[in-house]
Amino acid sequence: MKFYILTLFPEMVMQGLSTSIIGRAADKGLLAIEAINIRDYTNNKHGKVDDYPYGGGAGMVMQAQPIYDAWKAIIEKEGKKIPTVYLTPQGRTFCQQDAKTFATEDAIILLCGHYEGVDERVLEEIVTDYVSIGDFVLTGGELPAMVMVDAISRMVPGVLSNKVSGETESFENGLLEYPQYSRPEEWMGKKVPAIILSGDHAKVDAWRHEQSLLRTRQRRPDLLQKATLSAKDIEFLKENE
Ligand code: SAM
Repeated sequence: MKFYILTLFPEMVMQGLSTSIIGRAADKGLLAIEAINIRDYTNNKHGKVDDYPYGGGAGMVMQAQPIYDAWKAIIEKEGKKIPTVYLTPQGRTFCQQDAKTFATEDAIILLCGHYEGVDERVLEEIVTDYVSIGDFVLTGGELPAMVMVDAISRMVPGVLSNKVSGETESFENGLLEYPQYSRPEEWMGKKVPAIILSGDHAKVDAWRHEQSLLRTRQRRPDLLQKATLSAKDIEFLKENE
């Protein structure tokens, strides 16, 4: 899968995405991540990419021309229009299902705003999806773009060495994941629950599912309300109220 990131700070994005699992997947050729400097496309001889907002107000607005030309260069290279996401606090909130859906694309473009945002006219021209990473305002779209690349990449086949880990995590089945433990068996007087040391896989799976139910009810009751629960799940939750 190919990610094109339109940004004024390409080095920030590339540094953040060149390590660990995502960096290794890119080295293996499972992903390609290209950060494109919007400034390289400006027609302004001083390299300017922003200007004051018409109508007044605080801050600067990223101008349409450099963004449009940078976007057009990608579309010409790809030979077709591809999904173009504008990272913005005004978008729908990104979720795990979005990560899975975007992971089925061959390529996507992520547009990072900065300052007060982007001239509306270029957004109308190029954007297919308006996506936020939460109800707060950041200084730029670079961190949100990195968040999206990370979450989507994990859903690209082959990126996670253990396929199962992507299938048992939080938000699968609408539940949070169960608690995890590793060595030693006892730490600061706290013991690993005996059942997960038992070697009985069926019992371990059942215990983990119950823990997922309890944890989701405690931490994200909104998710539990939407989850599809079996009669046994409902009974278990009632018994453990
Ligand atoms: N003036 C804009 C508004 O009130 O909606 C906020 C602009 S913000 C300071 C600058 C840029 O950061 C935005 O253009 C967007 O690309 C990015 N950004 C900020 N918060 C974000 C969020 N929660 N999700 C995604 N992108 C965000």
